[in-house]
Amino acid sequence: MKKLTVEVVTPDGRIVNDQFDMVVVHSEKGELGILPGHAPLIAPLIISSARLKTGNESMKVAIGGGLVEVDQDHVTLLAQSAETPAKIDVQRARKAKERAERRIQQKRDHVDFRRAELALKRAINRLNMIDEDI
Ligand code: ATP
Repeated sequence: MKKLTVEVVTPDGRIVNDQFDMVVVHSEKGELGILPGHAPLIAPLIISSARLKTGNESMKVAIGGGLVEVDQDHVTLLAQSAETPAKIDVQRARKAKERAERRIQQKRDHVDFRRAELALKRAINRLNMIDEDI
């Protein structure tokens, strides 16, 4: 069976470079399932989890937003940040969540509010990834 070559690239470097059967990502338009033979594509990724599947196994990656590019069975997730569950620092994510919630409560100006909202989404996304109570 044909495979996808999948790379997950962040500003800190490449965290995944392997072959998978299927990739599921979340773009602004909804969930996107990518199988071998998929048409070329570039789409924005929202703060979400990506799933890289092989047989019955599924690898999760927390994506802090970015882009997905598909070209000839090569899938690149260009992410602002990306972590596999093992790399997630739970305490850090909890603190980031509390900090963002405080800032949202303060409602200072629009820029701070938007930044805090995004920080909150990233923190919740990371905590969801490891099935932490949030
Ligand atoms: P923080 O406020 O804790 O820095 P953040 O959401 O603002 O969180 P990002 O800007 O998304 O952080 O990421 C900056 C870098 O820190 C990236 O390399 C990202 O992978 C890493 N990172 C952020 N939070 C965590 C976490 N909870 N566990 C592991 N790595 C993290």
